[in-house]
Amino acid sequence: MSTGEELRQEVISFLKQLHQSGEEFVFLDRRREFARVGEPAGAAESRETEFSSRESLEDFKRKISDCRRCRLHLSRTRFVFGAGDPGADLMFVGEGPGGEEDRQGLPFVGASGQLLTKIIAAIGFKRSEIFIANMVKCRPPGNRDPLPDEIETCEEYLLTQIEMIKPKVIVTLGRYSAYYFHGREAALRHLRGIVTDFNGIKVVSTYHPAALLRNPGLKKDTWEDMLLVRKVYDQQGGRPSSGKVYQPGGKR
Ligand code: URA
Repeated sequence: MSTGEELRQEVISFLKQLHQSGEEFVFLDRRREFARVGEPAGAAESRETEFSSRESLEDFKRKISDCRRCRLHLSRTRFVFGAGDPGADLMFVGEGPGGEEDRQGLPFVGASGQLLTKIIAAIGFKRSEIFIANMVKCRPPGNRDPLPDEIETCEEYLLTQIEMIKPKVIVTLGRYSAYYFHGREAALRHLRGIVTDFNGIKVVSTYHPAALLRNPGLKKDTWEDMLLVRKVYDQQGGRPSSGKVYQPGGKR
């Protein structure tokens, strides 16, 4: 059998398994293509707008909130889908929920979340004007780092959210989301300051707010990163924000 035919057979067998497991749709790759199980090739592109309404993000949330795809569901209290404007032009992606997020079912509501709210405000945004999500939707026990297979299992959810929200700019917080969107593992100091492209969406990486709480020396670099975020956002034609960029020593 040719390699192409082998791959075709593998995909067919995978789709059959998914179909038997009751899955309704499957993410094919990172190019914004979604295909329902059993659908012919190309069908995904022809119904690109099906998941684009505001209601559909809510529907999607409802559909996946009882997820049991990986071990993290065993120890979670609540599934943390993400929160904010479903039509946001600016999206932040952290690592995974912590204790407070797990209790409330909302992203970034603990100590690092409070700092994130201030960071966002410093470039003119309220939380309600952006969307915040995580690489994994359930808390890794003891706040450990998410494992590669957990990130991989949850990837489809994040990609679907991106597809529905269609942000103009994504900001990654911390190592794991930076690795994912840059497609390589390098120290964050090498990934920050770079504007990368992810399926036509601009991506800027910065430190995780929890790292800033541990090491306030990172604040200066983070501020530079956020100014870059705002610049790219404006260049990409992001909608005006309710607030203005903080001017040190000047008027807001
Ligand atoms: N850290 C994260 O990466 N995400 C959260 O939602 C909270 C803390």
